[in-house]
Amino acid sequence: MIVTIDGPAGAGKSTVAKRLARRLGFGYLDTGAMYRAVALAGERAGVDWSNDADIVRLTETADIRWRGDRIFLDGEDVSGPVRSNEITAAVGRAADHPLVRQHLVALQRIAAEGVSLVTEGRDQGSVVFPDAACKIFLDAAAEERARRRVEDFRARGEKVDFASVLADINRRDREDRSRPVGPLVKPADAVTVNTDGLTIDEVVDQLQRIARSRLASEQS
Ligand code: C5P
Repeated sequence: MIVTIDGPAGAGKSTVAKRLARRLGFGYLDTGAMYRAVALAGERAGVDWSNDADIVRLTETADIRWRGDRIFLDGEDVSGPVRSNEITAAVGRAADHPLVRQHLVALQRIAAEGVSLVTEGRDQGSVVFPDAACKIFLDAAAEERARRRVEDFRARGEKVDFASVLADINRRDREDRSRPVGPLVKPADAVTVNTDGLTIDEVVDQLQRIARSRLASEQS
């Protein structure tokens, strides 16, 4: 069974998807990290993102693999480096490219073969797994998402200002929704869960109830 969780940046998808997968005993796929790994490979190789031949070579040579919840690029654990500010700023170039998307969509479908999976991203319910048994659209107001992000930065001892974090969230929302291929959309058959004012546990409880009821109706 496939559970898809799509939604905007900062809605808490990674944290809740990981916990939900653990509770259900399913595998977990963070597709954003895969786009980040391609962006990292491209930046390291100095690719010209406007040159299709460069991109074809990149997708053919970059070896992206999961081991548990760690992502590896050409045998190196890049789970930390893919989260850097540089890659966050560059990842749109990879995520907007139709050839990169085609390649990663194929890898994501291979990862789901014969296993039960919670997969999170922007296009999982709409494009990659249109027949998924359970589709969630995880949402939260931009201000709430910015507030959470500011708290995360402060907890790590980094100084940030709310207005610039909110501007960044709004910019990423525009990019995600206007992407020509694989834009962020709510699939018609997805259940929207708005996480404003909810704790992580409350969100996971809600998702678990939804997933279990879908699972039960699949089996009946
Ligand atoms: O979720 P995260 O911030 O790690 O995603 C990294 C980038 O990859 C974002 O720009 C996001 O829009 C993009 N992405 C995507 N399709 C996915 C997952 C992420 O275009 N399925």
